[in-house]
Amino acid sequence: MDLILFGPPGAGKGTQAKRLVDLLKIPQISTGDMMRAERQAGTEIGKQFDHYMTQGLLVPDELVLSLFGQRLSQPDAKSGAILDGYPRTVAQAEALDALLAARGRKIDRVVSMEVSLAEMIDRVVNRRTCESCGHIYHLRYNPPPSPGLCGQCGGKLVQRKDDSEEVVRKRNQEYLEKTAPILDHYTAKGVVKAVSGVGTLDDVTQRIKSAIGLA
Ligand SMILES: [Zn+2]
Repeated sequence: MDLILFGPPGAGKGTQAKRLVDLLKIPQISTGDMMRAERQAGTEIGKQFDHYMTQGLLVPDELVLSLFGQRLSQPDAKSGAILDGYPRTVAQAEALDALLAARGRKIDRVVSMEVSLAEMIDRVVNRRTCESCGHIYHLRYNPPPSPGLCGQCGGKLVQRKDDSEEVVRKRNQEYLEKTAPILDHYTAKGVVKAVSGVGTLDDVTQRIKSAIGLA
C-alpha cells in the first residue's frame, strides 16, 4: 500500500507515520531524512542538494523525485511506503503519481488528518523537544515523566525557536494556498479519507487504521 498522511503542519503526521511503520511493515519515507542522508554520504545527488540548500534555494522537484524513485525501488519499499510531508504542491503530486505509475503503483489512500488552527497552535507552543535525542513531548497530552527532562535519555527538554504561534500561522497560510489543493487532486481519484486528528495518539492511530481498512 502506498499511503500519504496528509494534514496541516503540526497535525502529527510524522508521529502517526512512525506508528504505521510497525503496523503496515512498510517504511516511512521522509524527503528531509533522505536529503540529509545523501548530503552526509557525499553522494553525487547529495552534492547537488548541498548546492541549493547552502544558498537557501528551493531544491528543484526533479531532484527530490529522482531520490524518491531510488527509494521506492529499494527492497523494503517494494510493497509500499508511507509518505508524510510530501507532496506539498499539486505539481509534486502529479509527478509522484507518474513516478509510481511507472512502477505499476499508485497512491492507494490519502488519510487527511483534520486539526483546527487553534489546536495546532496549542500543540506547537506546548511542544518540548529533547536536546539530546530529539524525542518530542507535549506538556499535557504526552508529558515528560519528570519536568524538563527527557524520559528516554535524561536530556534537557527545550522549546524550539520554530515552535511559536507566529510560525504556525505562517506555515498554515502556505499550507492552505499551496498544499491543501492536493486534497482535491486525490479526492477526484476517490482515495481520500478524512479523520479527526484531535485526541490521544492511540485514538488517532485507531481512526487512521479504520481509514485504511486495518480495523
Ligand atoms: Zn532524549
